[in-house]
Amino acid sequence: MTVRVVPDVPLDRARGLHVVTLGTAAGPAIRSECPGIATAVVVDGRFYLVDFGLGVTRAAHAAGLRGENLRACFVTHLHSDHVAELPAYLLWNWGRPVRGFTEPVRILGPGPADPEAGSVGTAGLVERVLGAYSYDIDVRIVDEGRPPLYDLVRAEEITLPPSAAAADGEHTPPMDPFTVYEDEAVRVSAVLVEHPPIFPAFAFRFDTAHGSVVVSGDTTECANTSTLAAGADLLVHEAVNLDFYRAGDFAPEFLRHQEISHTTPDGVGRVASRARVGGVVLSHLAGVATDEQWTGGVSAEYDGPVAVARPGDVWAVSAEAAVPRAAAVLHSA
Ligand SMILES: [Zn+2]
Repeated sequence: MTVRVVPDVPLDRARGLHVVTLGTAAGPAIRSECPGIATAVVVDGRFYLVDFGLGVTRAAHAAGLRGENLRACFVTHLHSDHVAELPAYLLWNWGRPVRGFTEPVRILGPGPADPEAGSVGTAGLVERVLGAYSYDIDVRIVDEGRPPLYDLVRAEEITLPPSAAAADGEHTPPMDPFTVYEDEAVRVSAVLVEHPPIFPAFAFRFDTAHGSVVVSGDTTECANTSTLAAGADLLVHEAVNLDFYRAGDFAPEFLRHQEISHTTPDGVGRVASRARVGGVVLSHLAGVATDEQWTGGVSAEYDGPVAVARPGDVWAVSAEAAVPRAAAVLHSA
């Protein structure tokens, strides 16, 4: 059972599977104090980052996560609010002076949507970031004795399976999850989700000895998310409050994007219900709503526990997780 906890030991010494909702805000817009979207999956003290929203560097540090315990990073898609702080995160978490990473870290994410048109995928993004900051990096290699950052960051663009042949920025065919990463602690699988016009856009599932968690990324209500999340202990899913945007002064194009590219709370409930997940945490909250409005929509379609993430919340997914000093079980409707 997933519970929101205050860990009684630092996360880098915690046993079990924890999820930290580092940032929960959607979009390149400041509508609250919440940092932008970023999620950490912590397995026996080592962690995996999903997305690099604005504020992830400070949020990860505040959660007790240090680069020396980072194993791999996953980018769901290349909207700026998911990768804006990738440069700062790498530059602030590299080498000994900051307990940064000194072993190679893989960054997995989408390839370019349209290479012939010159669009850049994850590898191009990371390469250009390292190039753009090469003056600083080169100085610190010599001046501070840091290891070459260029050799420590390995960007990999996720190869789409044959079942994705018909996919584009508008349509996402049904597909089985496919493995994108594996080490001794986790197996990470992915599916394409539907987030037009962005392509590719992924959801990721982490399977561990202590349980499983799925991060939806940005998506409309999508059957592939349910397939990926089947039987998972925890689904961290995005949500949009369309009423908030419909009541505001927004361009028709913007409203249309919210309607076809994001998931209403009741849509999240249907995804969770089909997947029979153990619990739902809402993060990447687009628009303003009360907790009751967010969770009420989910609970109209799903009879399991559901909660709204706050920045920095720690969710203990497994029974083997550190015994919480304070805990609140997710509330069922
Ligand atoms: Zn997006």
